[in-house]
Amino acid sequence: MNSAEIRQKFLDFFVSKQHQVVPSAPIVVKDDPTLMFTNAGMNQFKDYFLGNKPAPYKRAADTQKCLRVSGKHNDLEEVGYDTYHHTMFEMLGNWSFGDYFKKDALEWAWELLTEVYQLPKDRLYVSVFEGDAKENLGKDEEAYAIWKTMIAEDRILFGSKKDNFWEMGDTGPCGPCSEIHIDLRTPEEIAQVPGRDLVNNDHPQVVEIWNNVFMEFNRLADGSLVKLPAQHVDTGMGFERLCMAIQGKRSNYDTDVFQPLIQFVAKEAGVTYGDEEKTDIAIRVISDHIRAIAFAIADGQLPSNNKAGYVIRRILRRAVRYGFTFLDFKKPFLFRLTEVLADQLAHVFPELKQQLSFVQRVIEEEENAFLRTLENGLKRLDALEERFKSSDNTIDGKTAFELYDTFGFPLDLTALIAREKGLKVDEAGFEVEMEQQKNRSRNASASEQTDWVVLQPDVSTEFIGYDTETADSHIVRYRQVKTKNKSEYHLVLDKTPFYAESGGQVGDTGFLISGTEQVEVLDTKKENDLILHITAKLPQQVEASFRSEVNAERRNLIRKNHSATHLLHAALRKVLGDHVQQRGSLVNEKVLRFDFSHFAKVEEAQLREIEHIVNERIRQGIALEEQRNVPITEAKNMGAMALFGEKYGEFVRVIAFDREHSVELCGGIHVLNTGHIGYFKIVSESSVAAGVRRIEAVTAVSAEEFVQQQLNELNAVREVLSTQNNVSGAVQKLQEENKALQKQLEQFELKQLSSLKNTLATKAQTLGEVNFIAEVVEVSTADYLKKLAFDLRQAVENLVLVLAAEIDGKPQIAVMLSDNLVSDRQLNASQLVRELAKEIKGGGGGQPFYATAGGKDASGLQAVPAKAQELIKKSLNN
Ligand code: ATP
Ligand code: MG
Repeated sequence: MNSAEIRQKFLDFFVSKQHQVVPSAPIVVKDDPTLMFTNAGMNQFKDYFLGNKPAPYKRAADTQKCLRVSGKHNDLEEVGYDTYHHTMFEMLGNWSFGDYFKKDALEWAWELLTEVYQLPKDRLYVSVFEGDAKENLGKDEEAYAIWKTMIAEDRILFGSKKDNFWEMGDTGPCGPCSEIHIDLRTPEEIAQVPGRDLVNNDHPQVVEIWNNVFMEFNRLADGSLVKLPAQHVDTGMGFERLCMAIQGKRSNYDTDVFQPLIQFVAKEAGVTYGDEEKTDIAIRVISDHIRAIAFAIADGQLPSNNKAGYVIRRILRRAVRYGFTFLDFKKPFLFRLTEVLADQLAHVFPELKQQLSFVQRVIEEEENAFLRTLENGLKRLDALEERFKSSDNTIDGKTAFELYDTFGFPLDLTALIAREKGLKVDEAGFEVEMEQQKNRSRNASASEQTDWVVLQPDVSTEFIGYDTETADSHIVRYRQVKTKNKSEYHLVLDKTPFYAESGGQVGDTGFLISGTEQVEVLDTKKENDLILHITAKLPQQVEASFRSEVNAERRNLIRKNHSATHLLHAALRKVLGDHVQQRGSLVNEKVLRFDFSHFAKVEEAQLREIEHIVNERIRQGIALEEQRNVPITEAKNMGAMALFGEKYGEFVRVIAFDREHSVELCGGIHVLNTGHIGYFKIVSESSVAAGVRRIEAVTAVSAEEFVQQQLNELNAVREVLSTQNNVSGAVQKLQEENKALQKQLEQFELKQLSSLKNTLATKAQTLGEVNFIAEVVEVSTADYLKKLAFDLRQAVENLVLVLAAEIDGKPQIAVMLSDNLVSDRQLNASQLVRELAKEIKGGGGGQPFYATAGGKDASGLQAVPAKAQELIKKSLNN
C-alpha cells in the first residue's frame, strides 16, 4: 500500500464512522501566545475542549501538519540520528467533542489497524495509564477492560504519567492516554528479547504509532487539575511511522514518503544512501528538514531573527551545515529539493506547489547568506589559529560561543574543525557562556500569568464591533499577567465592540465605564478565539455592568487604512500581475504597510499608476458590500482569495468594493464607502526579504499632512532660491555654477603652488654637496603638499626637502630626498620624518625617498626647519 492510499484509508474509515473530515490547520500558529507551531492534531480544537466555543461538529478526522522543534515537544536533536522522529510530520487524528469516549475510540483504532491495514496482532502492544498518587489519579481500569476484550493480556502494559498522561503544554487540556506500539524486528531478534521489554525504551523498531488521549482535565497555572465541562477523545497517529509499519520497513526514511527526497540528495552528493553512517545521517537531516522549512514558509513564516522565524532559520541552517560538512555541498542545494516535495504532496497540501517559486527563492537566499556566514566563521577561526596554538591548543569557550551565536556554528562543527587543525575546544567554557545567555533571555521574557477568575461560566463572547462602537458589557472572566516591570489585566466580556488585533489590523483602544470609574482599555488582543481587553488596572467592581466604548476617532483612521489596503492589493495585482500575493500587512491609525510577493523593485511609473488606480476608486465612492457567514466555497466563487497560512472556518466574511475590483475574505473594520478614505499616498517602496516587497502608504489626514510637508520643503527651497517657477532648473543651474567655480579654484591653487615651488627653489641652502630646503608652507590639502614635494624634486637636484604645514587644523610634515642621496649617502626620509614628527607630537613613515608624518601639536611646526637642518648636518658629518 503506498502512502497516499494509507492516508486516504484512514480518512475513509472515519467517514464511515460519521466523522467530518476537516483540513489541516496551518503549521504556523497565530493568535496563541503559548504556541509557535502546531505540534499536535488537537491544537486547532483547543477551544472546543476548554469549552471556550462550541464545536460545530461532534466528530472530526484529519491529517495535520505538525512541527516539533520548540517548547514542550521538541525532537530536533533526535532528527536524522534516529529513524522515526521528524521535525515536520503528519498526524492522523480522530476526535470526539463531548461525544463518544474510550470504548468506541479504542475499538475503532483496533479495527482500523488490524482489519483495514492488516497489521499483525502479535506485533502490537498497548499501554494504559497506571495512575499517579501525587495527582490523585487512579489506574485507567476502564481502558484496560476494553483492551482485554480485543488483545491478549500480556500485551497490555501499564505506563506512568510520563508516557500515559498527555499534555499539550504546561497548561491546557490533558488526560490519560492509551498508546499503541508495534514491534518491527525480525523473528530472530524477537526470540532474543521480548517486545514488551522494549516498549517506550527508544528502540528504533519498537515504536509508538498511535496515541488515544481521553481529554478530561484542564491543567491550571498553579499545577492543579480541574475537570473539563465534557469528556473528549483526541487521537494522534504518526503517519510516517504507520507507513513504515504497513510497508514492512525498518525506518521511516525507507518508505515512499521519504525515498524520493533521500534519493535526490544522495544523487546530488554522489553518494549511496546506506553506505556510511555519517553521510546517511546528513541525508536524513536534509530530507527531513526541507519539509519543515518549505511548509513553514508556505504557511507564511519567513526565516528571520526572532521567535518562530528564528526557529525556521535554525532548522534551515542545521540542514545546510550537515550538507556542507558531510556531503560537501558548498553551494545552495536545499531549495532545489522543494520541487520533489511539492510534487509529492500536491494532492494533500497544494499550498507548496502553488507557491513553489516563491518558497524556492526564499530558501536559496537564506542558504546563500548562511554559506557566506559559514565562510566568514571559518576565516575567523583561521585568523585566530595562532592564538589558540599558543594557549594550550585550545579554542576558548568565549570564541566557541561567538562562533555559535554570530556565525551559526554549533559546538560539534567547531569541534570538528578544531580536530582537523589539531586543536581542542573548551566545551565547559562554551556551556557557561550558553547558560549565561539563556539566563539573560529568560529574565527578559519571564512573565507570570494567574489562572482565570471566572465570573460567568459557560458564557462566550459576542463580538458586535462591526455594527457599533459602544455596548453594555459584563466581565465573564479575568486574569492578571505580570512581567518584569509591569502588571496588566486581561478581561473577557460577554459582549464587546472592541476589535482584537488580527489580520494585520491593530486592536482597538477605549474605555470601560461604570458609575464614575473609567478603566482604560490599552489594547485588544486575541488568544485563540478569546478576545482579551488589556488594562492596567482591574475595575473596582468586576461584577458591575459596564459601558464599553471604543476610541472611535482612532478606529476611523484605522478603517480608512484597512479599506485602502484592499484597494492597494487589487491595484497591485492589476499593475504587476496575478503573482502578487499578500505576505503580511499592518494597519494602524497612522499608516498601512503591505508586504507582497514580487521579484523586482516596483518602478516609479508603476507606483504612480498603482496610486492613481487607488485614488480613482476612492473618487468613485464605491459602497462597501459586507457579507457575513458566507460558505467558504461560495466566497471563493465570488473571487475572494484565501491567504496561505490563514485558518478559515466553514463560514467566512467577505468584503467587496465593487465585486469586479476587490473581493477579500476579511474580518477587519472598513469604511462604508471608499470616498471616506479621502486620499491615498504611497510614501515608500522597499525590499523586506528575498522576493518580498513592502509598500507603506498613508490616507486621509495623514496623506494630506504628508503632501503638505513635501510642499513646505519645496517652498522653503523656492524661498532660498528666490524663484517661483522651474525650481529644479534653478537648482541645476546652481550646481553647474558650483562646479565651474570649483574648477576655477583648483586652477588658481595650482598656479599658487607653482609660484610657491619657484620661491622655495630659490631658497635652497648649500650644505656640503646637498641642496637643503626646509620651510613652513601654506597649502590647503595633503595632495597639494605631496605635489609640491614631487615638483621640487624635479626642479632641484641633490635635494633634501622638508615641508611643514597645517592642513585642516592638523600639523603635517613631508620629507623628500633625491635618489642619489638615498643610495650614496644612506639618507632615509622615513627615519628623518619620524625624528621630526616628535616636534608635532606625532608619527609617520613611508619610503626611503619620501615620507610623511601627522601630529597633534601644530604649535611645534615652526621648530621643524631648524631641527631638520641640525639633523642633516649631523648625518652629513658622519
Ligand atoms: P515518542 O515518544 O515516540 O516521541 P510521543 O509520545 O511524543 O512519541 P505523541 O505526542 O503521543 O507522541 O504523538 C502522537 C503520535 O505522533 C505518536 O504516536 C507518533 O506516532 C507520532 N509522533 C510523535 N512525535 C513524532 C515525531 N517527532 N516525528 C514523527 N512522528 C511523531
Ligand atoms: Mg515525543
